[in-house]
Amino acid sequence: ADSGDHYDLVCVGGGNAAGYLAKTLVDLDWAEGKKVAIVSGEPVAPYERPALSKAFLHPPGAKVRARLPGFHTSVGGGGDRQTPEWYDEHKIDLMLSTMAVSLDAGAGKLTVQGAGQSERAISFDKLVLATGAKALTPADIKTENPDLGNVFTIREEAEALEMVQTLEANQDNFKDIIIVGGGYIGMETAAAFSGWGFNVTMAFPEKHLMQRLFPESVAEVFENYFSAKGIKLMKESMVTGLVPSESDNSAVGGVKLKSGDVVNADAVIFGVGSRVDTSLAESAVKLGEGRTGGYAVDDSMRTSNDKIYAIGDVAALNGKSRYEHVDFCRKSAAQAATAIAEGRDMPKMDYLPYFYSRLFEYTETPLIFQFYGDSSTDGASIEVFGNVDAAMETSGNDKVPGFGAAWVDASTQTVRGLMYCNGTPEQYDTAKNAVLTSAKFSPTMLD
Ligand code: FAD
Repeated sequence: ADSGDHYDLVCVGGGNAAGYLAKTLVDLDWAEGKKVAIVSGEPVAPYERPALSKAFLHPPGAKVRARLPGFHTSVGGGGDRQTPEWYDEHKIDLMLSTMAVSLDAGAGKLTVQGAGQSERAISFDKLVLATGAKALTPADIKTENPDLGNVFTIREEAEALEMVQTLEANQDNFKDIIIVGGGYIGMETAAAFSGWGFNVTMAFPEKHLMQRLFPESVAEVFENYFSAKGIKLMKESMVTGLVPSESDNSAVGGVKLKSGDVVNADAVIFGVGSRVDTSLAESAVKLGEGRTGGYAVDDSMRTSNDKIYAIGDVAALNGKSRYEHVDFCRKSAAQAATAIAEGRDMPKMDYLPYFYSRLFEYTETPLIFQFYGDSSTDGASIEVFGNVDAAMETSGNDKVPGFGAAWVDASTQTVRGLMYCNGTPEQYDTAKNAVLTSAKFSPTMLD
């Protein structure tokens, strides 16, 4: 490559973590004098991805319907809205619709390819890997007839936009929507589309909603509320296939369950998890241990190659823990950007996992929850507390009162993890501090 193609820093991936990396580099005044590029497979500048299953899906007529440029990073973290003009202004080269196709770490070279263009090489002093994850598709999970029309996943804005436009165009023809998956993306999507007037059904193999996190009694509150909103829950129902529509055999007409039953659907949305893809750099840097996946990084987000960093969903902190949360994107991006800009090793990153979800925000009675800490149940009991009984009684039009669950260490009775739903800012602060300080559990601790 000639000198015009040499960069002080190249970030591969233009998602949540990349946006916050750019923010910190600019905040530290590092980007100005340097050549920085972001190589992104997406056609749009980095944005706050969680919006895609929340306000992006709000029903037509809702007060808020998130659309770009409204939710570019770093609006979620209280920063500037980083539109393409922002990157221009800060002389960051935003290469959109461009994939990094191969890496020669030894030579400090990356081969990139823009849509419809031929491959070209760029070189770097420092490389940041921020390639995130991809949604698992029907084909990935071996669903029959995976390629039918009106079947969607939600990871990138283009996918969510296509889904919303299809549903808008068919608001009068479509009746039944099936959401495959009972995790948070399935719940958020179901909550949004129930407001569009469709018959929404969630089908998932687990015994209850959010089985990976929620204890049964917490799930019951959500299930009760979802049912009150008219959302049908098909629990312990494994979707094994898609069935073509009778009127148009290129489009979906239903889903087939393991039981052999077929359930009608005009559109199907898969929220069945995601997978990190480390193919770009797996021969250049060490991967996370065991089944962690991702690229092993130290507290400065540096990989086993000291020119290469990894942030966001692909980073396995200390080789062990990956977090697929925006909060980790922000903090890992800040950590890497500071280490790079100031040329130093960062102090130990005591990361407190933090995750939130927001449901029915287009109504007067949303369900919002936050989770802090460790949700493993090894050597822990889960204690449900707060107004859980009153929450169970709500009809779907009432405000659900605050309730929560604590993951309590069985030997010390201290709090390892805490989720709270419909709390006040003060209660969320207290919850966070209780986990940070390993407070003794008490059912009145957030009162
Ligand atoms: P991403 O944001 O996925 O960005 C990766 C980028 O890299 C993409 O632009 C991709 O196109 C690009 N890319 C990949 N490979 C290449 C390549 N070879 N060359 C060029 N570009 C490439 N987290 C929460 O904490 N709370 C929530 O409520 C929440 N809601 C979510 C809702 C949805 C619908 C989704 C999908 C995720 C949600 N998350 C949530 C998770 C959160 O969005 C992710 O943790 C976060 O986006 C990860 O950021 P990232 O930068 O690591 O990866």
